[in-house]
Amino acid sequence: MLRLSGKAVYKGIAAGTAVILRKNDEQVKRRKIDDADAEIRRFLQAGKESALQLQVLYDKAVKEVGEAGASVFKVHQMMLKDEDYVNTVYSMIRTEQVNAEYAAAAAGDNFSGMFAVMDDEYMRARAADIKDISNRLVRNLQGVSDMDWGNMEPSVIIADDLSPSETVQMDREKVLAFVTVHGSSNSHTAILARMMNIPALIGVPADLEKIRTGMTVIVDGYREEVIFEPAQELLNQARQRILEEQEKLKLLQTLKGKENITLDGHKINIYANIGSVSDVGYALENDADGIGLFRSEFLYLGREDFPTEEEQFQAYKQVVQTMAGKKVIIRTLDIGADKQAEYFRLGKEDNPAMGFRAIRICLKRPDIFKVQLRALFRAAVYGNLSVMYPMIISEEEVKMIHEIAGAVEEELRREAIPYRVPEQGIMIETPAAVMISDVLAEMTDFFSIGTNDLTQYTLAVDRQNEKLSDFYNAHHKAVLRMIRMVADNAHRAGKWVGICGELGADLTLTEEFIRMGVDELSVAPSMVLKVRKAVRESSTSLH
Ligand code: PEP
Ligand code: MG
Repeated sequence: MLRLSGKAVYKGIAAGTAVILRKNDEQVKRRKIDDADAEIRRFLQAGKESALQLQVLYDKAVKEVGEAGASVFKVHQMMLKDEDYVNTVYSMIRTEQVNAEYAAAAAGDNFSGMFAVMDDEYMRARAADIKDISNRLVRNLQGVSDMDWGNMEPSVIIADDLSPSETVQMDREKVLAFVTVHGSSNSHTAILARMMNIPALIGVPADLEKIRTGMTVIVDGYREEVIFEPAQELLNQARQRILEEQEKLKLLQTLKGKENITLDGHKINIYANIGSVSDVGYALENDADGIGLFRSEFLYLGREDFPTEEEQFQAYKQVVQTMAGKKVIIRTLDIGADKQAEYFRLGKEDNPAMGFRAIRICLKRPDIFKVQLRALFRAAVYGNLSVMYPMIISEEEVKMIHEIAGAVEEELRREAIPYRVPEQGIMIETPAAVMISDVLAEMTDFFSIGTNDLTQYTLAVDRQNEKLSDFYNAHHKAVLRMIRMVADNAHRAGKWVGICGELGADLTLTEEFIRMGVDELSVAPSMVLKVRKAVRESSTSLH
C-alpha cells in the first residue's frame, strides 16, 4: 500500500484501475538529412494536419465545456504559427541538416524550457502548452495518431503531467479520476478538469517507474490523497463512500427544475458563484436560478496587462447571453490582498487585508474603474445583468461610485454606443457597512453579504492565516446578528438582500437565514441543489 498526498483540483472520490500515461518524446531520433527543402515541406504539412486536429479538438471542447474553456485550442493554433518557433525549426533543419521531427522537438524543448523558469505563474503554465504543440507536430511527422481514449475501460489516469489536449480528449464516462505528479492549479488542464467534474489531484509525488498500469488506486479529493494498492478494508470503505456520494447526487438530480420553496410556502432564490466565463456551464448544469457573484477580478489575474474594454465586454456579454434572461450579478474588480496582479503595481503592504484593495483601488484609479463600468453597461444590453461593488465602508464611497457611473453613462451616450444602466448593489462585508446599512439601503438597489470578509473584519481574524483557523468562526453570534441587522435594514428600505460568502452554503444555517428574511443565497455551483434540498426541508414558522 502506498499513500501519497497532493492538491485537489476538483473534489470527489474514485477507485479503480490505474492507467499510467507515458509520453514518448524520448523516441525522437536525430537523423542527418540531404534535402532541407523537402524536410521543411514535411514540417509544413505536419503543421497543416496539426491545425486541422486542433480545430476538431476545439469544436469538441466548445460542446463539452463552452467557448472559454475551449479557447486553449485556439491559442495552440496561434502558437503553431509562432514565427520565433517556426524560424528556429527552419534554421535547425538548414544549418544542422537534421530531420524535421528532431528540429520540432528540440525547438519545443527550448521554448518550453524558457517558459518553465519564468517568474510569472501564468507564463510558467504555458510551458506545457508549448510541449503539447511540438509533441503534436512530431506525432504527425511520425504518422502516429492521437491517443485512443475511446477504447479505454473506465480508469484512473496517472501521468507526469497532462496537456490540455489530452484532458479534453478524455471521455468523461471513462475517466474515473486523474492524478498528476506535476501541474499547477492555474493550468488549463486544471481548469478543464474542474469544468468536467473529474476528481483530480495534482502535485502527487508518485514515482512513475514504480507504479504500474493495472494497480488498484483510490483517489480521494476530499482528503487530498491517493492510495495505490490499498488494503481491502480501505477499498471497501472508499467504495461505500462512492456509492453514498452517487446516491446523494442522484437524489439531488431529482430536485432540478423544482422550486426553492420552504414547507410553508416561502420562496427564495439560489444563485451560483463563478470565477470565469466558463464556469457558467457548471452553474446551469446545477440548475442555478442565476449568478449571484461573478468574481470579475479573475479576468485581471494571470496576465501581463489590463484586460481591454472589448475583452471584458465580450466576457460579460457571453455570461449574460448564456444565462438567457436569468439574473447575473457581476462584482467589480476586487483585486488586492490575496489577489495580486503585478501590472497594478500596488506595492508591498504590511497589512494587505486592511489595505489598498477592491473599491478603494477603483475610486483612486477611476481610469481602470471606468473601463470596467463601460464594458458592464454595454453588456447589460444583452441580458439580465446587475453590478455590485465590494468592500464598501461609507456613504461617500457610494456617492463617488454613482458619480463615476454617471460619467460613464454620459460618455457612452455621447459616443452613441448601446448601453443600459443596470441594477446596482453593494456588498456588505465590513462592520462599518453593517452599522450604516439603514442609510446605505436607501442609496443602492440591493445588498449581498460577503460573509468571508465580514467574518474576518468582525472577528479581527485574517482569513488567510492558517494559524487562526480555530478562531475564524463564521457562526459567531456577532456575524449572525449582523446578517439579521442587514436584512432588516434592507427590507425597511424595500430592497432585497442576499448572501454570497461561503456561509451562504452552510446547510446548518439555511433555515435560520430564511427566517432572517434573506432573499437570495449564492453558493458554489456544486452546492446549489444541496441548498435547494435544505430550503425545501425548512420552515419559516417556529416549530
Ligand atoms: C466574501 O468576502 O464573502 C466574498 C464573497 O468575497 P471574496 O470571498 O471574493 O472576498
Ligand atoms: Mg470579500
